[in-house]
Amino acid sequence: MIPVSAVSLPPRAHELVAEVLASGQLAQGPMVAEFERLVAEICGVEHAIAVTNGTTSLEVALEALDVGPGDEVVTSPFTFVATLNAIIGSGATAVFADIDLDRFTMDAEATAACITPATTALMPVQLYGQAAEMGVLMALAARHDLAVVEDAAQALGASIDGVQVGSFGVGSFSFYATKNVTTGEGGALTTNDAELADRIRLLRNQGMRARYDYAEPGHNLRMTDLAAAVGIPQLEDLATITARRSANAEHLSAGLAGLEGLALPRVASGCTHVWHQYTVRVTPDAPRSRDEVAAALAERGVGSGVYYPRVVFDYDCFRDHPRVRTTPMPNAQQAADQVLSLPVHPGLGPAELDRVVEAMVEVWRG
Ligand SMILES: *Cc1c(COP(=O)(O)O)cnc(C)c1O
Repeated sequence: MIPVSAVSLPPRAHELVAEVLASGQLAQGPMVAEFERLVAEICGVEHAIAVTNGTTSLEVALEALDVGPGDEVVTSPFTFVATLNAIIGSGATAVFADIDLDRFTMDAEATAACITPATTALMPVQLYGQAAEMGVLMALAARHDLAVVEDAAQALGASIDGVQVGSFGVGSFSFYATKNVTTGEGGALTTNDAELADRIRLLRNQGMRARYDYAEPGHNLRMTDLAAAVGIPQLEDLATITARRSANAEHLSAGLAGLEGLALPRVASGCTHVWHQYTVRVTPDAPRSRDEVAAALAERGVGSGVYYPRVVFDYDCFRDHPRVRTTPMPNAQQAADQVLSLPVHPGLGPAELDRVVEAMVEVWRG
């Protein structure tokens, strides 16, 4: 079976982990500091703060920006549930701007239409490894004095118009097992705002300024040096990892071009894509439904994934939630019905990619 994602760690990750084990300093220390330096360098920002995961990262971003009860946060209806959970957890109300079906990110015009006097933040999601329309969204945020939290969990290293994701507003990243860079579990925030970075560092460590000197109530969101040691070599190699993913995406797109009713992923103008996922849409013009295609691929030993099968709030626990504003999201609904992600990870060689293409062509021939 060709899996839709696979983790492969360079030998240096093993060496660095062994170093940490030998040092006896397993909790946050010099490895985390180096991990943060590399994340800041990749994002072109002054400050990166490593945390436990991509969800706590979103949560602490909202907390540090004082987003809470009475506030409205506009986000994408087509995302992993963590985005929504973080907004609900802050006490704010989640409002949704439908997506653009070409890039799968929240549409700038739809976002503008969601803004009310209660709106205090935008939370665009840089889905599948590609940036949202950040230029337009940042201008909108400036006009209405809104904070911006980028859920860039899937897009470390991506850019738009030469600017890295994570450097527009407060960037939030995840280093979960399936992400382009992994520490098993992990997250990071990025910002150019020194005061905000300081507040996030405080909140990460019990609100503690110096030992047993508490500036405000906080949390324990610290990453361990063990986790950072796993991630450092991947951050150092990110350009190579991304180049491999891009080459794999090109290989797939060349092989799949022309299949009836299959919409291939597109790189939006001005964007560099890091191909966290290679996601096609199986439209009604295709000979089989999306779910039939996935099943037929599995029979042929090709893994695939549906990210995500439903609009994020299309569950009883959110539909009936007083702080989730549900309105029809036709584009997000269409995406949920049609998307299928194919294997694109850097561990795949040309022969495996050809197998993915051949399986798809066979499924189309019927
Ligand atoms: C993975 C992911 C998160 C959450 O990150 P975790 O590290 O799993 O907590 C948030 N948003 C998006 C879009 C993600 O893909």
